[in-house]
Amino acid sequence: MNIIVFVGPPGSGKGSVASYIENIDHSFKQLSTGHLLRKEIKSGSDLGTVINQIISDGNLVSDEIVSTLISNEIEEFDASVQSVILDGYPRTVEQAELLEKYIKKTGLILKNVIEFKINDGLIISRLEKRVSCSSCGAVFHLENNLPSVTDVCDYCGSTPLVVRSDDQPDVIRQRLKGHHDKSSLMVDYYQERGVLSFVDASQDLSCVRSEVCKILNVNICK
Ligand code: AMP
Repeated sequence: MNIIVFVGPPGSGKGSVASYIENIDHSFKQLSTGHLLRKEIKSGSDLGTVINQIISDGNLVSDEIVSTLISNEIEEFDASVQSVILDGYPRTVEQAELLEKYIKKTGLILKNVIEFKINDGLIISRLEKRVSCSSCGAVFHLENNLPSVTDVCDYCGSTPLVVRSDDQPDVIRQRLKGHHDKSSLMVDYYQERGVLSFVDASQDLSCVRSEVCKILNVNICK
């Protein structure tokens, strides 16, 4: 099984592109740590309560929690899954090192790391208009990525679509600060290993999708 890592700040389109690819080519599976963490919060567990506080403050959840969630999910996949797109993990050099160990131990292949490059001003304006499906985590944008039916998720049919609590302006700024502090070092880490490519994520979503599909050799892009 191949591992593909999407790196980029919140609002750079990682999740939208990953769910698009998963839907047009079922050999790909999106794995979003943000979505897994929100699922844990929704379950009402004690762990979920702790996670909720961390996410609401715009901070990162511990490496141990996220790496365990990821490995548990990967172990559940059947043979039809040939490539896993990690959306939101790793986010730090420490997590990248944990992933490398896991990959070595399990015989997975780190195929691509794609950085979604975009400036902060554009991210803030995008996130202010972002809505998500609280059931499957799919993301939409009220101007340039509308759902086909107002307030209904295109992927799982749930309604309503909601603004996430961590997409409020103050929390967005804290999340971006965390991204710049930690993820840029991780980008250097992957650059040194020669697996990094990048896309200009400030373009229209359809252009970003096409570029990513080209890198991943996904042929059925619309
Ligand atoms: P996302 O949906 O990827 O924007 O993630 C939402 C929030 O979940 C982040 O702001 C973090 O608080 C937490 N989170 C997601 N992925 C990770 C990760 N790899 N490491 C630590 N915290 C994470």
